Amino acid sequence: MRIIGLTGGIASGKSTVAELLKGMDVPVIDADQLSRQVVTPGEPAYNAIVAEFGTGILNTDRTINRTALGKIVFADPAARQRLEAITHPAIRRRAEDELLRLKQSGKPVVIYMAPLLIEAGASSRVDEIWVVYVDRETQLKRVMARDKITREEASQKVAAQMPMEVKKLHGSVVIDNRGSMEELATQVQETWNREVLQKQKT
Ligand code: ADP
Repeated sequence: MRIIGLTGGIASGKSTVAELLKGMDVPVIDADQLSRQVVTPGEPAYNAIVAEFGTGILNTDRTINRTALGKIVFADPAARQRLEAITHPAIRRRAEDELLRLKQSGKPVVIYMAPLLIEAGASSRVDEIWVVYVDRETQLKRVMARDKITREEASQKVAAQMPMEVKKLHGSVVIDNRGSMEELATQVQETWNREVLQKQKT
């Protein structure tokens, strides 16, 4: 089974591309979704996080307050490392379970969508990387519109990440999402045809 890693910067359009692929019956594993699942109450990673960061990071319903935890690790790189040492292996285990399930059901190709695929050192666990790219100005506009935040807040989020111009160098395929939704849909279909369907024939 061929594993294609799908990544890109914030609001580059990863989720939109993943939805288009799902619409084409392509299986997609979403690392963001897994990262939310592994920290739900009762999960081993949940217990480890509460032991590490205390009950102060919990909501009244005992779920983890992601904003509160986010604030702690944003301000403290060592705390971030401790959090990631808990969550990353848990996400990885989940992803591997999913991959095994898909492999056993005979799927030839699967998409592994992870915003921090490259930064988290997971590149070696996929067979190739597709990067969704946008220029900085478009990225800022889309973050502002989607997350209803100011230009300044959007700039901070974008500045905290690997620059898109650098990230795109890691992709064997770059999906250019500077155009319209229609252009994106065409490009995703063409990319799939060229990179997957035609290669399966040869
Ligand atoms: P990511 O998953 O990379 O953070 P999203 O797929 O959520 O990014 O896209 C960010 C925002 O930009 C969303 O609101 C999405 O609807 C919008 N968007 C994505 N692609 C386009 C496009 N080509 N034209 C206009 N808006 C787009």
